[in-house]
Amino acid sequence: MVVLSQRIQKVKPSATLQITAKAKELRAQGKNVIGLGAGEPDFDTPDHIKQAAITALREGFTKYTPVDGIPELKKAIVAKMLRDNNLTYNLDEILVTSGGKQAFFSMALALLNQGDEVIIPAPYWVSYPDMTLVADGHPVIVDTQESDGFKLRPEQLKAAITPKTRFVVINSPSNPTGAAYSVDEMAKIAEVLRPLPNVWVISDDIYEQIVYDGFHNNNIVQVAPFLKDRTILLNGVSKTYSMTGWRIGYAAGPRDAIKAIAKIQEQSTSCATSIAQKAAAAAISGDQSCVQPMIQAFRERRDFIVHALNAIPGIHCNKPEGAFYVFPSVAGLMGKKTPKGKLIQNSADLADHLLNDHEVALVPGSAFGKDPFVRISFAISMDDIKTAMTRIEQAARELV
Ligand code: GLU
Repeated sequence: MVVLSQRIQKVKPSATLQITAKAKELRAQGKNVIGLGAGEPDFDTPDHIKQAAITALREGFTKYTPVDGIPELKKAIVAKMLRDNNLTYNLDEILVTSGGKQAFFSMALALLNQGDEVIIPAPYWVSYPDMTLVADGHPVIVDTQESDGFKLRPEQLKAAITPKTRFVVINSPSNPTGAAYSVDEMAKIAEVLRPLPNVWVISDDIYEQIVYDGFHNNNIVQVAPFLKDRTILLNGVSKTYSMTGWRIGYAAGPRDAIKAIAKIQEQSTSCATSIAQKAAAAAISGDQSCVQPMIQAFRERRDFIVHALNAIPGIHCNKPEGAFYVFPSVAGLMGKKTPKGKLIQNSADLADHLLNDHEVALVPGSAFGKDPFVRISFAISMDDIKTAMTRIEQAARELV
């Protein structure tokens, strides 16, 4: 029998990745499953970005890079921070990682001590609590409400803070709700933190460019510059440039913190992939006109999906400000039975039923710490969205 570490026994599998894999597997078996699970744009990576990687390969740029990233990419990130966020960072305040996820993971290992508390507003991206646990931290989940747009109220944050609080995680626009904080809302969160110099912010800005209806995302450092010396901004190219598989993320923050996170990287992955770094540099510093058409397509899908979901009895859906997810309430479907007589008691039951009997894969809200809700990704084609909505509507109407 394999002896497992206590550490790994505390960790759950990633529901987002598992459901995405399950949908792919069922499709490979010939089932006509529509995957609304994956948080991954369906667009191809723009050609000029691919070309940069091809050139790098041809030129033999295939060796280890500096641990913290190639200068070309780090300079592009610094310029991007100024261009998009009006923030000034030095090169030694930037670390290139193997995806945004690894930036959080290494950050947790580098900066958390046993029992340090990490405040995570729910619904949260599935991996924050587990990555905190891997690093022996203690996730403190603060439940936000649909009626508050799934945003943390300042008084909720205040009530959650203890002498052990080390981090507050802010993810705006949010995975899984798409909710994004206005400047005013973000300023109020920052004010709670002003008198607490030991509490740091982890600001996951991976969806910052994917916003709708003229919304402009401002991260907490933009809104409250006094937090700059205790905030780590996490970002990456996966979502904005449809580059999920290239695995390039980055962290920006105080030099000593970045240096510590780089040490974890030095002792684990060594560096992010050389050719992917070249591609990321082309993405960040190249022509940005490839981004808007993707956002426009997401906006059309969002509008369609919100309208379609709200027309289904038992489902209620907020309109998200950003990202490519909706997080509808399915409270009106709870306690009902499927035509086969199975009782639907929570979002996991509903997700199972939809997958098994209606060939629609989505992620139950419970994976994000909030029930009875489900997460639907609209990073798939409009045709598939339309078919999926018809299937969900039929499933909902069949419940008794
Ligand atoms: N972040 C995406 C999602 O939530 C990708 C999968 C993952 O790493 O969780 O679906």
